[in-house]
Amino acid sequence: MASGILVIVEQNDGKVSRIGWEALAAAQEIGAGLQQKISAIVLGKNAAAAAKAVAEAKISQVWFAENTELTNYTPDGFSAAARQVIEKAQPEYVFAGHSYQARDYMPKLATAFGRVFMSDCVGYRLEGGAVVFVRQMFQGKINADFSFTPQSGTPYFVSFQAGAVSSDKLEKGGNAAVADAGANLSEISIRTKVLEIFEGVKGKVDLTKAEVIVSVGRGIKEKDKLPVVEELAKALGAELAASRPVCDDGWLPMDRQIGSSGQTVAPKLYLAVGISGAIQHIVGMKGSRVVVAINKDERAPIFDLADYGVVGDLFEVVPALTAAIKEVKS
Ligand SMILES: Cc1cc2nc3c(=O)[nH]c(=O)nc-3n(C[C@H](O)[C@H](O)[C@H](O)COP(=O)(O)OP(=O)(O)OC[C@H]3O[C@@H](n4cnc5c(N)ncnc54)[C@H](O)[C@@H]3O)c2cc1C
Repeated sequence: MASGILVIVEQNDGKVSRIGWEALAAAQEIGAGLQQKISAIVLGKNAAAAAKAVAEAKISQVWFAENTELTNYTPDGFSAAARQVIEKAQPEYVFAGHSYQARDYMPKLATAFGRVFMSDCVGYRLEGGAVVFVRQMFQGKINADFSFTPQSGTPYFVSFQAGAVSSDKLEKGGNAAVADAGANLSEISIRTKVLEIFEGVKGKVDLTKAEVIVSVGRGIKEKDKLPVVEELAKALGAELAASRPVCDDGWLPMDRQIGSSGQTVAPKLYLAVGISGAIQHIVGMKGSRVVVAINKDERAPIFDLADYGVVGDLFEVVPALTAAIKEVKS
């Protein structure tokens, strides 16, 4: 009978990705509730080194596969290696972080077992011995609860959105057994080839060293209005940053983005201007020492995290704040 949770932990050249730790943290919490053991698999170049780090989490077993066929990520290679481990381990659940890789190979992997893939979950809870997963619908406008029906059959394949689970929850201090998965990939056909790996953004601005950050969100409405926040950043001697929609629209360069798919910062002061406080944004700035939020919606989630909040129109509040700072400094 299938039992346990197997986590496919993402890593890059021996270093475990944050999204990998997050998936492990979710597995620990759900595993404790279901009284199931947790195991992990780490794939790719230098997976053995990453497996050692994973073994420090409180779980029972870590496998790794660093066959030459896995040196560069391919959906064929990764799904074949994971499949072999799943067939051996017979877990009830297979978890992964919903990374760019996972969204590529997990559907293939689930399909290989004739199963569905519960992708991009933003939450979960235990109800009567079963797990209820929360997913977003309609561009995140509403959430919906999902569970696997008895017809689904195990293993249940699940991925978690970046930032949906805090890696701070991860229980460390473990000493899991680490073993080579013994994956045999010599027979498999790898049908895509990585030609070159390069960074999307060259000459990236390093916001991680900034002491003060003024971060702007969609509340700014249009690119032409950016000078409102640029003035404030200048007056404070701060770096300018943004939420994802601002960068996606090309109003600021991608290397100014804060969040799960941008930079993670921990400045002394973080001013969030016209930012709602979506989980993917919060995960990139929650380590800030003092958070000030300016938002016209008093129910905006950013206020749950903010140390100081101003409910008001940024086009009134920000110029007044900039003028007051300039006056104090003069
Ligand atoms: C896989 C994935 C990864 C993601 N990665 C990131 C990421 O790295 N970083 C990130 O930021 N997001 C990320 N997102 C997107 C995230 O889910 C949110 O959509 C995004 O953070 C919302 O940005 P926002 O707060 O600027 O916009 P909105 O959610 O539209 O919020 C705008 C806010 O401005 C306020 N406002 C409007 N007008 C005014 C005004 N005149 N004065 C004051 N306040 C005003 C509104 O009340 C609202 O709260 C990701 C999403 C996914 C699915």
